Amino acid sequence: MGSSLKLFTVRGIDIRLHMTFPLILLWAAFQFGLASGAGLTGAMFGVTAVSLLFVLITLHELGHSFVAQHYGAPVKQIILSPIGGVAQLMRMPEKPVEEFVIAIAGPAVNLALAGLMWGTAVLFNIDLGSPLRVLMGYGGVTGSALFTYIFVYNIFLAVFNLIPAFPMDGGRVFRSLLAMRLDYVRATRIAAAVGRGVAILMGIYGLFNGGIFMVLIAVFIFSGATQEERLVRLRGSLRGYTVQQSYSPSAYQISPYHNLQHVVDFMLIGGQSSFPVSQGELYVGFLTRGRLEQALQTRGRHTWISDVMRRDVRPVSLTTDIYEVQQRLDSEQLDALPVVENGRCLGLITRRNIQELYRLSQIAPGSLPKVQSA
Ligand SMILES: [Zn+2]
Repeated sequence: MGSSLKLFTVRGIDIRLHMTFPLILLWAAFQFGLASGAGLTGAMFGVTAVSLLFVLITLHELGHSFVAQHYGAPVKQIILSPIGGVAQLMRMPEKPVEEFVIAIAGPAVNLALAGLMWGTAVLFNIDLGSPLRVLMGYGGVTGSALFTYIFVYNIFLAVFNLIPAFPMDGGRVFRSLLAMRLDYVRATRIAAAVGRGVAILMGIYGLFNGGIFMVLIAVFIFSGATQEERLVRLRGSLRGYTVQQSYSPSAYQISPYHNLQHVVDFMLIGGQSSFPVSQGELYVGFLTRGRLEQALQTRGRHTWISDVMRRDVRPVSLTTDIYEVQQRLDSEQLDALPVVENGRCLGLITRRNIQELYRLSQIAPGSLPKVQSA
């Protein structure tokens, strides 16, 4: 990812800073320094406080991530941007209990830290002062004010994330609780409706009280809820269809001994962007669009396909569920997957194939009998 900078890796998870991240530090320096009249000391205090806030956010995201890994869901990376952090899971487990524990783990980390800090404050007689005053910016720039900030940030992160609306953790907690009793799609529909309701209330409150930040969050939540509902509905309607019902048997296959120029010629005329590689009758690899473009830039058009094709892409079979294909295309960021039976490549299944299937299943469900899947 070109727009972010890798900081370090924990348990295989890259922790990355989005390139817009320095903006929040600039803002903090301005807000605590110039705007509050505390000068350079204030600016340094602000940068320290906000940096620590992002340490808390990272710990929160690691909370989600470690539990997800525990349930066998790989976590690709955690990206920190001025509006917060996101842990990118390769897939979200759909067992309600697992989703519940993953979602609650983030806020739980912050609550545990807040509890620990409170205990420390009592033990060492640290004056937490009035957290509210500190939040409003009247806490001064002392060490104990910093301590209070971090304490309040932790509570804020836990409470804010538990708002019962997608894409907040609370939305997932709420959906998983519903899904323990209801069908997953129905549970999502209810959780999304509640999320939109919360967003509308927040938006109205923000508008009347001049809270522009609150209005922005309301818009973010409203669209997040709608998006999640659409995604789950799409997946729900793909269930029961298999690759056999929608793939491209006429996809062009290449030999490992072709060069990249050959593929480029074909891309321009055939409009295909990923290519199964077969040697004789046998499937041997897959040339993805990403790999092709990268190879053209770094190694030139005379490079052999065998030198750049991917061998790590797991093919699908005719009986693979379309739903599973869709999930893999999303998580592996591919345009297509090769369809292979008994070592022979039969063609490709592309995003377009899936979109067509979805559209037809909506307008004429009778024309597409679902396969009874195990
Ligand atoms: Zn979270």
